[in-house]
Amino acid sequence: MGMDKCKVAFPRFGNYHIPLEFLFTKGLGVEYITPPPSTRRTLELGAKYSPDYVCSPFKFNLGNYIEAIEAGANTLVQTGGTCRLGYYGELQEQILKDLGYNVHFINMSRANYNNPLTFYDEFKKINPNLSLKKVTSSLITMLKMVECIDEIDDFVRQNVGFEVHEGEIEKLHEEYLNSLRTVETKKDVEKITKNYKKKLKDVKVKKPKNLMKVGIVGEYYTIMEPFSNHFIEKELAKKGIVIYRWMNVTNSILHNNGKEQKKTIKPYVKYYMGATSMATIYKTLEWAKEGFDGIVHVKSFGCTPEIDAMPVLQRISNDYKIPILYFSFDSQTSETGIQTRLEAFYDMIMMRKEKR
Ligand code: SF4
Repeated sequence: MGMDKCKVAFPRFGNYHIPLEFLFTKGLGVEYITPPPSTRRTLELGAKYSPDYVCSPFKFNLGNYIEAIEAGANTLVQTGGTCRLGYYGELQEQILKDLGYNVHFINMSRANYNNPLTFYDEFKKINPNLSLKKVTSSLITMLKMVECIDEIDDFVRQNVGFEVHEGEIEKLHEEYLNSLRTVETKKDVEKITKNYKKKLKDVKVKKPKNLMKVGIVGEYYTIMEPFSNHFIEKELAKKGIVIYRWMNVTNSILHNNGKEQKKTIKPYVKYYMGATSMATIYKTLEWAKEGFDGIVHVKSFGCTPEIDAMPVLQRISNDYKIPILYFSFDSQTSETGIQTRLEAFYDMIMMRKEKR
């Protein structure tokens, strides 16, 4: 494949396609194809060609790949991961080959997320004439972008339900993400972020005195890709709830506090339980101690590490008298079922709040 024609795509994942686009175009000098946002079709396509036993991130990713190929991509990057996802790359590659797609596959599970430079070897397969200097500086800008996106995201999550004029925050958020697509340097990222932070803070919000706080925990993919969790954060925000979410790329990869997590949850967990389960338990416990009104746990159907975390969450729920709502999403999850359970959860935490 001639390198001038290399068109790379990565599965869709929150808003991280923006820093990825930056890295691939500016740092690696190749074209980047952003897969269209995940929809029902993405999931159906993915589910159709996936084995039954895989968890939904596999199906979503596969659907994203097919849609990216339809959009012109010829080189696909597999994310790697700390659980089964790390082994999925080969299988996805085989499925796409069997479907007759002639694409190049880069499997990032060979790189080490704690050491960004190991990515260099993988990137070389995409563009052998890479300049280490260029890649390094783009990586630094990209990581800054990730941190800024996550920071703005937190602000949005905690304020979007309280706007005086509905839609203002979301509009600014979108504008912010779009303007990130024009940056050249780390300085640009910082400048744009500062500017939008100010704009966002200037939006009129009206928060009631007796604020309801809900923390959202759970499995990596499902929690970060809003389509896969049926936009649950948005649904909660619409009810005027402040939403906290620790799980994002900044906290889980760039500034991981694994040691602190282990120490905090020691009364509940003795051994490492894999993937995101430790973080799930850690944040649930912290927020329970802080007196949050409730916790929402999300995961993909069949996600073993998060299933293992559930009995522990139940113990925390009993010890601290904090309600926890559990959601398990698969390709069959019905919209009305989710709505009904969210309503009931909301009514319950509301009643508890009034009694206090
Ligand atoms: S964390 Fe769970 S849902 Fe995610 S890839 Fe692993 S097993 Fe699947």
